[in-house]
Amino acid sequence: MIGNGLSGVRWAMVFSGVLGAALAVALIGLVGLGQGLAQSRDDDDDDGGGRKAKNVILLIGDGMDEQQITAARNYELGADGRFALDTLRYTGDKTTYSVTESGEPDYTPESASTATAFSTGQKTVDGRISTDRNDRDIHPTILELAKSRGLKTGNVSTAELTDATPAAQMAHVAARSCQGPRDMAACPQDRKSVGGPGSIAEQSIDNRVDVLLGGGAQRYDQPITEGPDAGQTVAQDAAEDGYRVVRTEQELASVRPGQRVLGLFNAGNQAQEWTGQLASNPPSGPQVCNEANRDQRATSEPSLAQQTEKAIELLGARNRGQSKGFFLQVEGASIDKRAHASDPCGQIGELVAFDKAVELALDYARQRGDTQVMVTGDHAHTPQILEDDSNPPGFASRLTTKEGQVETISYGTGRTPSSQEHTGAQIRIAAEGPNAEEVTGLIDDTDQFGIMAGAIGSRR
Ligand code: MG
Ligand code: ZN
Repeated sequence: MIGNGLSGVRWAMVFSGVLGAALAVALIGLVGLGQGLAQSRDDDDDDGGGRKAKNVILLIGDGMDEQQITAARNYELGADGRFALDTLRYTGDKTTYSVTESGEPDYTPESASTATAFSTGQKTVDGRISTDRNDRDIHPTILELAKSRGLKTGNVSTAELTDATPAAQMAHVAARSCQGPRDMAACPQDRKSVGGPGSIAEQSIDNRVDVLLGGGAQRYDQPITEGPDAGQTVAQDAAEDGYRVVRTEQELASVRPGQRVLGLFNAGNQAQEWTGQLASNPPSGPQVCNEANRDQRATSEPSLAQQTEKAIELLGARNRGQSKGFFLQVEGASIDKRAHASDPCGQIGELVAFDKAVELALDYARQRGDTQVMVTGDHAHTPQILEDDSNPPGFASRLTTKEGQVETISYGTGRTPSSQEHTGAQIRIAAEGPNAEEVTGLIDDTDQFGIMAGAIGSRR
């Protein structure tokens, strides 16, 4: 992990990867031209390169496993209710393990390794952002492949935009902590002063992602200290590079298609939706969650659904009658973060808010028929639904659900309520639209990359 002069080599590999993929696509395109045209539903879809979907929308609930979904459903809709995310036509499971530096399986991954797996199709070590276990072989991400095919790209998150899940789509860096220009201590070989690509924030702008919406202003407001853009902040550099930089819901509403946008709505992670008592020992509750937090927080902060709606509007807009399609990732990040904190109301409120974004994406896709929607988590988490009279050794809370029953949720993977851990179970993956039929049975998170890449005609 010491600076080793590989940076230039690493970057050459990214570009040759993109070029190689483009060449492969061109060859597939010659073979599959007729088929591609037959499947193309839009008159202005001018690329017949075996592409099955015009658009791909990937929605990630961080830490969203089956226990999380079930706990939220029981509370919000009742045991026989259905979220939008429960209605996708094809459903399977995916394994999410990561690897050690020597290539052995690591059964309990985190968000950097899992996002690297589904973004690039390559397993890596916990903590890396779209570089391999030795921080060398770099594969282009699905977002980068989409961009190389002429699609517009977007990345939306309730976390900082530089947090692991959004980062792995648009940056390649040795450690997830290297979020802003001042945060490069763990990534000496990635510094711009040694020819590296710089921090995650810098790479997101250098990569020209069309729509960037989320938290993390504290990273983008750091001054760039190295390289050609030194002397200004990342946000100032973005503005110079043609981005409209917005900081409030009202400013976001005024953005019109045709300009790249960087929306930074919180210094850190975006505010959580619901609040309530944390789990404790003996169990807290019975409680009803406080859903008013959404109204009390800064009204300048758009919800995940509002950001998703705007992203789709901007990315899907026609320019001179043409629309090349888009790839959009949307992350409900704090489902995970509130579960780490033993906060049942927090995690349920985040999942309910995430589901509203899923509903918007499905509404868009179902009206069109040319958009692949994929909904999944990245890894499993702590919460378990227990017997109501149980007194488990860890921390628990009893919630009075909206159908009037008691639901007991327990947290037992860390010694304190604030230190709960990820778990290693396989999790749900669901999809609908072109190429979605491949989401069935048990797959791996690296297969997810191939299913999305196949949808945009970039299978490799
Ligand atoms: Mg995340
Ligand atoms: Zn986590």
